[in-house]
Amino acid sequence: MKRTHSATSTTLTVGKIPMQERERRNGHRGCVVWLTGLSAAGKSTIAAELERTLFRGGCQALVLDGDCLRLGLCSDLGFSHEDRQENIRRAGEVAKLFADAGFICLAAFISPYRADRDTVRRIMPAGRFIEVFVNAPLAVCEARDPKGLYAKARHHRLKNFTGISAPYEPPLKPEVELHTDRLTVAQSVEKVLIRLRKTCGIK
Ligand code: ADP
Repeated sequence: MKRTHSATSTTLTVGKIPMQERERRNGHRGCVVWLTGLSAAGKSTIAAELERTLFRGGCQALVLDGDCLRLGLCSDLGFSHEDRQENIRRAGEVAKLFADAGFICLAAFISPYRADRDTVRRIMPAGRFIEVFVNAPLAVCEARDPKGLYAKARHHRLKNFTGISAPYEPPLKPEVELHTDRLTVAQSVEKVLIRLRKTCGIK
């Protein structure tokens, strides 16, 4: 099926609450923290810890997870290049809605294609898309293999598996890079928080 979506999203303001009012109430700006990386690199783990820490600190934060979205909104999509593109387009639009509502939206998606991540960056206002490269070597991800997916991919029981039989295009200039083979989860969380203190006004 050929999809013909435009690459740019427009904000149709229907409600009467200006962004600044939401931000004043929340005490911080809304944004999208986009975690990209191989399966098992640590995206969901770090996103969940970040959400907990931000929530404890009184922020509006929400994890948007690739696996979860594929159960509902994206359940019609597979793992071809075209379907992955559409998956990220939808995820980006949802993440933007949360950011518009004032949330720090923690989006954890393999999102292997640079062009797709850049499309999400383009629909966000400047400075409100924070690309976080969750960078662990393939060998480390494969050794972790928390869901047994690498083992399946190696045995040809999973097609189009990122890192094995499908490409991963690393970010060229991510706002944050986390080497999760060397950093603890707490250290990774702190690195993202440092960035959010600078750009989103969190305490
Ligand atoms: P992804 O969302 O990128 O597919 P997950 O967060 O689901 O990855 O899985 C990463 C696995 O690696 C988890 O089981 C996590 O406990 C483990 N892990 C081990 N060390 C780290 C680390 N330093 N940072 C993040 N995850 C780690």
